[in-house]
Amino acid sequence: MIGVIVACLVLAGIITYATRSKEAGGIASIKRGKMTWLKCRNPDCGHEYQMDLKDYFIYMKEHQDPMSMAAPEIVCPECGEESVYRAEKCEKCGLVFERGTVPNDFVDRCPECKYSKTEESRKKARARKGK
Ligand SMILES: [Zn+2]
Ligand SMILES: [Zn+2]
Repeated sequence: MIGVIVACLVLAGIITYATRSKEAGGIASIKRGKMTWLKCRNPDCGHEYQMDLKDYFIYMKEHQDPMSMAAPEIVCPECGEESVYRAEKCEKCGLVFERGTVPNDFVDRCPECKYSKTEESRKKARARKGK
């Protein structure tokens, strides 16, 4: 009898686990360890910090407004305002800037020195194809 109960519990556990991981979708497959930059839009603050990309996506999913396509704001740990957005750190000049600062261009285009990692990697990919 106990064996049957245990088997049922295990089965229930597997079903719960399977549905849960299905719900999490892409987030579950993201590995920890990849960091993303975040920057505060408040001009008096301008706080810059890093967060695990996985935590960022989990936060986005939890706070996403289903009626809006806009990315939800993150509360700044420095000034407490909902003014933190995902940012990029320029590999060339070290500037941390909000993604998509340069309109109609790569999201990681640096407004300071105009370097874009996406553009660089595409150039490299193109060069490799050309050979
Ligand atoms: Zn702030
Ligand atoms: Zn730069």
